[in-house]
Parts: sequence; C-alpha cells; structure tokens
Amino acid sequence: MEKGEYFALDEKSAAEYACAKGFFCSHGANVRCKEIGDGNMNYIYRISDGEKSVILKQAGLSTRLSSERSISRKRNRREAAALEAENEILPGCAPKVYLYDETMDCMFMEDLKDYTVLRKALIEEDRIFPDFAEQISSFLAETWVRTSDVGKDHIQKKYQVKRFTNPELCEISERLVFDEAMFNLSGKNSVEPENELFVKTNIYQNETLHQEAGKLKYRYMTEAQALLHGDLHTGSIFVNELGMKIFDSEFAFYGPMGYDIGNLIAHLLLARENARQNQKPAGVIWAENTVSKIPELFVVKGMDHEQVQKDAFEKILNKWYYMGILEDTAGYAGLELIRRVVGSAKAEDIVSLGQGKRAEAERRILEMGIDLVLNRNKFREPGAFKNMFVRSGS
Ligand code: ADP
Ligand code: MG
Repeated sequence: MEKGEYFALDEKSAAEYACAKGFFCSHGANVRCKEIGDGNMNYIYRISDGEKSVILKQAGLSTRLSSERSISRKRNRREAAALEAENEILPGCAPKVYLYDETMDCMFMEDLKDYTVLRKALIEEDRIFPDFAEQISSFLAETWVRTSDVGKDHIQKKYQVKRFTNPELCEISERLVFDEAMFNLSGKNSVEPENELFVKTNIYQNETLHQEAGKLKYRYMTEAQALLHGDLHTGSIFVNELGMKIFDSEFAFYGPMGYDIGNLIAHLLLARENARQNQKPAGVIWAENTVSKIPELFVVKGMDHEQVQKDAFEKILNKWYYMGILEDTAGYAGLELIRRVVGSAKAEDIVSLGQGKRAEAERRILEMGIDLVLNRNKFREPGAFKNMFVRSGS
C-alpha cells in the first residue's frame, strides 16, 4: 500500500501500513492492531504479530483537545526528533524511534509494553519507585550538560534552538499554563463550589500573582537555556522496577531548564496529595523524598559534571546558574499546580478523589502553588524543597 498523500489511519489500515513499511512482513496474515491512545492530540496504535510489537503514533487531522485551532501535523516530526535527541542525552531513556514518515505524519517506535505510566502506577496501583529520583535527575542533569550553552558547542546549540523552535505547541502552554490559569479568559476554568470564591480572590484578582506569572511566562518564551521535554508530567513517563522512559515529547523546545523540573515536581506534589487524601503513607513519603532529592541530585550531577566546559565564566557562574534554575523550578511548579486544578486539563490525581476530599485537596494545592510562585526566590538552594514539607506538614 503506497499513498502519496496523508490520510488518517484506523486499526485496519494501520496494520496494513505497518506491513507495507516492512514491519512483520513475513507474518502479514496474523497482524493485529489496536488503538490504545488516551492522549488528546494523536492516535496511538499497537501493532503486533503475537510475538513482536511496535507502536505507531500518528498526528490527527485536528487535535482532540480543541478543533478551534489547527496545529500542524508536523509536530510528529518534532516529536520523533526530540525522542531521538533524548536518547542521545541519556541512552535508553526514551522509546527507540524506528521510522518517521513525512507523508503520513506518523512514526513507528518501540513498544514499552513492560512499562506502566507513572501516574497510573502511583495512584491506581499504589506502587512506589525508590530509584526514580536518581534516574530522572540523571536525565535532567544530562540535558543541562549536553544541550545548554554550558556544555554544548555554542554554534551547534544555536542550530538546535532553531531546529526545535515549536511555535504552535508552545502557544498551547502559553495560553493554558499562564493566561487561562491566571485570568480564565475563555471562561472554561472550574473548581469545586467551595473553592470558587477563593480562586476569584486569590488568583483571578491577585495582581501580585499576575505580575509574577507574567514574568515566568516571559522567561518561558525567551530563555532558550536547554532542550526541554516541554510537558514532563507523570503521564509522560513510563516506569517499571528496572527503570524509566520518557515519552510524548511533542512539546519539546529550548526553554528555561526549571520549566521541566518544575513540571515534574508539581506532578509529584499532586501525587503526594492523592496519597495523603487516600491515607497511603508510603506514597506520601515516597513523593516527599523524591521531590526533595530531585533538585539536590540535579545540582550535584549537572553542575559538577566533568563535561561541563569550565571556561572562565562558567566556573564563576556555576552557582548562579543553578540558583536561577531552582528559582524557576519553584515558580513553574507553582503555576503547573494552579493550572492543573483550575484549568481545563485537570490532574487525575485530584479529580479522582471523592467529593469532600477533592475540595480540600484543590485548596491545599492552590495554596501551595501560589506560595511557590510568589516565594520562588526562597528556593534558590536545593535543600529548600525539603523544607516545604516541614513548613506545611502533611
Ligand atoms: P498524546 O500525544 O496524544 O498525548 P501519548 O504519546 O501520551 O499521546 O500516548 C498516549 C498513550 O499511548 C500513553 O499514555 C500510553 O498508554 C500509550 N503509548 C504511547 N507511546 C507508547 C509506547 N511507545 N509504548 C507503549 N505505549 C505507548
Ligand atoms: Mg502528547
């Protein structure tokens, strides 16, 4: 089957297409295909011959989230490039990309069927992952070392910035993480009725908060520090007892390093709140330890790395770099917490709680989020994240 033009695959045509591309060609008759996507933007097919399997991800005609805006299907190419870049940053940390198809805006990649999405493993299966902070901090530190101006040839880095410029997907984050969360421009935000007045007073009418969120938005738009995943939450990470894999990298762009770290920390705080409300102390302790360890390990692994170019400026600025990154981390974590409560893309960790618990959890997360944004300059040392739990209690 050779077509010269894009068409949207379905389970039947995806199986045929995989065979046409040379996957399972000797087993054509036994090939099975199932759409397994739970995302908003794309279609994910698992194609298998009973022994081997691959994943086919195709960018849809419009995003599932919003058909008002069309987002170029070329996002699939950027995602394939980002997955490959992530595998270079830390080998094996993302699914292998087998083939990207320009015409069909799709890619074949490694089937991570032995892994579970971290969010699900935490909140549905009550599992914990003692090595996760070590694993993810290696990825974050290597990202800093290998993609920022500190570790990478400055000319090459600028070409990479150009290659990963991602206007449409960044616009989604600019709108949802910053604008909508602060101003409810589209009127689509919601919280439990008990929290409506709190949100109006402390978020929609809070000019100090708007100012700080605006500064963070501007940094997000202009501070091309390192190649970011761009959407690094617990739903973009696969885990099992042996390790972790990062996936769904279509939001990748060069931005402030603290945006990725902050996103991750926000979602670990959401998982912590879920565990707390459901009285699962092991989950609470794991989340707190992980949040505490990630900034510490990032600084140790990223700043002392032997590959970081120690030129005259970089030696002197080492501490200044990480202090800025950690301050950003706190600020972006705060904004992510707020938007995952008030905004349209709500955190499953909170939505899945029963009604009474949900309102309380929303309030606690919002208070934490506002504090992180407004007081982010108190998080310039790695140990500050640990203190957060001492201050707020659990
Ligand atoms: P979207 O970009 O639409 O959000 P995702 O990349 O998040 O899509 O994928 C949606 C779901 O498909 C994931 O949550 C996961 O369950 C499954 N999936 C995606 N990639 C793989 C993979 N390489 N191996 C196994 N399952 C995958
Ligand atoms: Mg996605």
